[in-house]
Amino acid sequence: MKDNLEQTLVIFKPDALRRKLVGEIMNRFERVGLELTALKTIRFTEELCREHYQHLVEKSFFPEIVRYMTSGPSIVGILSGYRAVAVVRHLVGATDPLEAAPGTIRADYALSNQENVVHASATIPEAQAEIARFFGAEFSTDL
Ligand code: ADP
Repeated sequence: MKDNLEQTLVIFKPDALRRKLVGEIMNRFERVGLELTALKTIRFTEELCREHYQHLVEKSFFPEIVRYMTSGPSIVGILSGYRAVAVVRHLVGATDPLEAAPGTIRADYALSNQENVVHASATIPEAQAEIARFFGAEFSTDL
């Protein structure tokens, strides 16, 4: 990784598409200098939820996550730039909008700790695994 140049994965969840917030939120990422290097529309299945949210499979609310994430199409993208993983998580904010810092995406747009409009990779290894999951291993190499 040269000069902290990283790539990270972002998912615009079904509520972001339903509420037509994708362009507005993408603009926030581009405004801080991140580059959108891949983008596609997908549809989550229960199987994909089990893989992507494997750390939550045992939680009582996991069926709600499946219902939410399979309720419509999502858009997945790769963002590249200086310290992209931490920068994107910082812009996205905490899971629960009540705990998300003012001005973050979730504070401004999320309706609940479930319908929180975007997903962003938490760490560099997680970003690499998630990019490989949605785009294939050839996309997940170091910059
Ligand atoms: P984050 O998305 O902030 O990395 P987690 O990995 O803990 O957070 O959770 C993944 C997603 O599962 C959240 O973004 C949210 O959509 C959903 N979720 C998390 N906790 C809850 C909860 N207590 N009730 C309902 N949905 C939840």
